Amino acid sequence: MGSNQQNEINNLFKEKKSPTSVFVFLIALYFISQIVVIFTSRSELMVNINGRMLPLSFATGIFTSIGNICIISMVAVYHRKGFAAALTILLVQFPSILMTIFVAGIYTSIPGLFTNLMTLVAIILIYSNDVKKEKYQKSLSVQAVTDRLTGIYNRFAATEYISSLISKKAPFAVVSIDINNFKSINDSLGHSNGNKILIEIAKRWKIVAESGASGTTDLVARLSGDEFCLIIKGYATKDDIIKTIKHYENVLENKFTLNDNDYFINASFGYAIYPDDAAETDTILSYSDVAMYDVKKKNSSNHICHFTQELLREENNLEIEREIRKAIDEDRIYALFQPQFDVNHHLRGFEALARMRDEEGNIVSPGTFIPVAEKVGLIDRIDSSVFDKSTSFFGEILKNHPADFTLSVNVSVRHLMKADFVDEIISTLGRNNFPADHLEIEITESIMIESAEKALECINELKNYGIKIAIDDFGTGYSSLSYLNKLPADLLKIDKSFIDKMNLNESSKQYVAAIISIGHIMNFEVISEGVEDVDQIETLKKINCDFIQGFIWGKPLPENEAKELLLNA
Ligand code: C2E
Ligand code: MG
Ligand code: MG
Repeated sequence: MGSNQQNEINNLFKEKKSPTSVFVFLIALYFISQIVVIFTSRSELMVNINGRMLPLSFATGIFTSIGNICIISMVAVYHRKGFAAALTILLVQFPSILMTIFVAGIYTSIPGLFTNLMTLVAIILIYSNDVKKEKYQKSLSVQAVTDRLTGIYNRFAATEYISSLISKKAPFAVVSIDINNFKSINDSLGHSNGNKILIEIAKRWKIVAESGASGTTDLVARLSGDEFCLIIKGYATKDDIIKTIKHYENVLENKFTLNDNDYFINASFGYAIYPDDAAETDTILSYSDVAMYDVKKKNSSNHICHFTQELLREENNLEIEREIRKAIDEDRIYALFQPQFDVNHHLRGFEALARMRDEEGNIVSPGTFIPVAEKVGLIDRIDSSVFDKSTSFFGEILKNHPADFTLSVNVSVRHLMKADFVDEIISTLGRNNFPADHLEIEITESIMIESAEKALECINELKNYGIKIAIDDFGTGYSSLSYLNKLPADLLKIDKSFIDKMNLNESSKQYVAAIISIGHIMNFEVISEGVEDVDQIETLKKINCDFIQGFIWGKPLPENEAKELLLNA
């Protein structure tokens, strides 16, 4: 079974053959042309062509050429097989031509003999050139799919194989393999000894793949360095995938001997399945990598891991976390300022919204990095940086242009719960010359659910300094009216999701109207977020909303535009 499987894999990288039907056609055409040649060359018939009488024998040359073209095409297209057939045909013809000339004395056949000899020379030249070319091409195509160091398949072969399986819609698993601690082996033994280990690993795995011992059809390839890849197909159940991987894991258990010293090697295996986990070559390879990195990260005794979407999320978050850390260190976090207006379009102030620039200079939205920053405990550093930069920017403007406006900053629950939160706020305000009564801190309802007592303590302290409190994204959390009643807030921010639906039906409109009424009853002012069209403004005016924030009157602005808007207000 093993060698059949390997043949199937090898065939994938062979040049495609021309169809046999064309070969048969060439032979048939050759013989037909020869019959016509025999007939025409001996015929004394005259034919009328365009009013001129010509001997039928004039067609002999045409059909001789057709025959020669068939012979030469056979060699050119079918190489070895074509050459054998052409040679046989020509050699078989020689005795009969010689007999015709020397026994029957028909000397008109001498040109035929000459033509045959010339064709023979031509096909020998074509074929010998072909053999040289074929040899060269074969070595090129072998090189293209072979890893130079280990002699097993390389990355190109693996990806081509995966693509061919995908095009056939054949289920398979891709296993990313990485040798554990290979770097230290390389560092301590030197590169050439490291290479010897890689060669030995490849040799053992090649034997498993070619022997068919695993019971599945496997292709093993080296992708780069100590990274290998195994492609498994022909399994009956998904458990068979693990069984096959274990075969490859087990052959590493025997010691590796190098310069009379024994070494023990193991590897991490992560796999993803087509079509269950991914449907494209690059995706499936990167998903099996994600699973393999998980094995490395967990460092457990189980060295095999199947890809899941959850792993991908963790992996993405790790990537974003790295980005955030770098962005903080390299000062790539900054703020944009979205204006807020009263319903008559007079400026109320600005909300500072964090932005991050990645290493290429692209802007990353807070929807991507804020949740990760919250999860990994980096949010307070972002909040602090936005807070410091925005109060410093507006503090500087206020020095020369006193203005009455509110600067809103978002603060996450985690940050607010820090013991020195209020101290930090107050000292930053002092350092940046920004008046406390111009500041508004946006918190979400979730604060009340997580730790009402502590939050209230902190909020009351802030209020004592004259700082305003806004409840952000109102309506999306689960806070009850009793919580709301306890919160000494100043502003209620109705979430965009309610504003979006507001004009679609009467009940949605009444819902927003009810929130505004309740807010007013509790002595809060109310702002609607995400207002995008004139009809929404009209409705909000009618139901007594106090303020508007939304793209219709202002997107988040860079510093210079925010300054201009403030000074012209
Ligand atoms: P948020 O505090 O509710 O901010 C309002 C969001 O709605 C902003 O998105 C703003 O750009 C967007 N927005 C405003 N008007 C419109 C509109 O008319 N149409 C649409 N489609 N969107 C509108 P952004 O800047 O992406 O911020 C998303 C969220 O990220 C914020 O929601 C806030 O929860 C969080 N965030 C932003 N900056 C900070 C920060 O410095 N610290 C913390 N902790 N969270 C922040
Ligand atoms: Mg906000
Ligand atoms: Mg909001």
